[in-house]
Amino acid sequence: MEGDLTEFLQKFSLEGNELLGPTLELEDFHTGVRACENSIIGRVIGEKIINFIGIKNFVAVAWGYPRNLFVVELGPNVFQFNIQNPDDQNRIVEGGPWVIDNQMLVLKRWVEGIEEDYKAFMTAPLYVQLWNLPVHWLSKEIGKKIGGVFIEVREVLVPQSGGNEGRHLKVLALVDLSKPLLRGTVVRIAGAGKWIAFKYERCPDFCYNCRIVGHSERSCKEKRWLGGNNAENQYDPWLRAGNTRTSPQKKN
Ligand SMILES: [Zn+2]
Repeated sequence: MEGDLTEFLQKFSLEGNELLGPTLELEDFHTGVRACENSIIGRVIGEKIINFIGIKNFVAVAWGYPRNLFVVELGPNVFQFNIQNPDDQNRIVEGGPWVIDNQMLVLKRWVEGIEEDYKAFMTAPLYVQLWNLPVHWLSKEIGKKIGGVFIEVREVLVPQSGGNEGRHLKVLALVDLSKPLLRGTVVRIAGAGKWIAFKYERCPDFCYNCRIVGHSERSCKEKRWLGGNNAENQYDPWLRAGNTRTSPQKKN
């Protein structure tokens, strides 16, 4: 905030009451804080701006029409959601993944200033499929263990299908969006390494250059551009589960 003010003062020469605004005390915020407590702040991680009507319609359907849902747009891709029922609040903030137009809607409970803190929205749940597993590895225990490469494993699902598609595990994992999406991981067993490949369900748009969610390779700051086709072959469609359609961010 101090930086903002310095910049502002450099731009304009202020005079009189322009300089002499009121001093705000803690108690001045009580009403506002009460209104924000129990609200949820959501940030869409991506370059496409979701408009107010779009987000309103999306959350109403995705969250099963919670009673007295009230949505406020706080800025580009930042929204506040007021939901009356505490059970609905918990279900929604602990739920997900919420993916709107191939972009993650990351939800956090309101705390002071969180709407301006981009980093606070860098963890989100994603369904990750684990592939290349021997048949006797298809258990919750193994899923939990391999899922340990993520921040947290919330759930392990063992598919019951008898077909070849069924031969994978699915974990609902809390993923660090500030880091490149993991393509898989090397598991060590009896001294040997085995590659376990990951596929992300409802995978949000990510950068084909650095594999970070939220920007495209066109605006990538990472200087390790591998060159068009090469990079695309490496990550797409391999990271997307059951969804090989072209990402809107893809260069043609
Ligand atoms: Zn990038």
